[in-house]
Amino acid sequence: MIKGLQKTTLIDYPGKIACTIFIGGCNFRCGYCYNSDLVFKLNEIPSITEEQIFNFLETRKKFLEGVCITGGEPTLYPGLEIFIKKIKDLGFSVKLDTNGSNSEVLERLLKGHLLDYVAMDVKASLENYEWVIGTKVSREKLKGSIELIKKSGVDYEFRTTIIPDVIDSEQITAICQEIKGAKRYFLQQFRPDKKAIGEKYRKMKPLPISRLREFQDIARQAIPEVAIRNC
Ligand code: SF4
Repeated sequence: MIKGLQKTTLIDYPGKIACTIFIGGCNFRCGYCYNSDLVFKLNEIPSITEEQIFNFLETRKKFLEGVCITGGEPTLYPGLEIFIKKIKDLGFSVKLDTNGSNSEVLERLLKGHLLDYVAMDVKASLENYEWVIGTKVSREKLKGSIELIKKSGVDYEFRTTIIPDVIDSEQITAICQEIKGAKRYFLQQFRPDKKAIGEKYRKMKPLPISRLREFQDIARQAIPEVAIRNC
């Protein structure tokens, strides 16, 4: 299920020079998803073995500080816990990107002190979630993941991609209520992509940055640190 390795990134792990490992497969079908190959074409993407990853990491101990594990949805990877433990044993910090649907796995990873940073996508208000992700999801598990992350004691962020036809001021207000008590929230600019799962998202124009600033002002009423990610 390991389908990609970006050998160096300065932006994926806040404050750290890192590499990023891509785990294939996802239980969501977000229309705007530009990683659709990782969601639908797993068999067409060559796999990378864990051995290859560890051989690479051994050679990068002096240069990299962290490892980002992203997807797809990494918590679907059956060997994730042991995989992360081995990465940490090599001395790297680990950041996990997750859609928050798998709160049991997240809880085990956090309880095992296997994560140093968690980034959870909050796609929309809970009411609109299934419309955005194109499938069913347990609201209880999403809420459970939010609470686990807030109480975890590890560094974290919640983040929302500003999908033009979904996210508006009301959505931002509702999301901020649902993540209330969080310390950091990112508003991520939407980018149309020719590989997006939903055809309409392949050419859709992003909202102007001024609109994101309005959302930022709204979110700041509830969350201390709110930033716009425009890259
Ligand atoms: S954007 Fe949605 S469908 Fe794509 S990888 Fe993330 S959670 Fe899965």
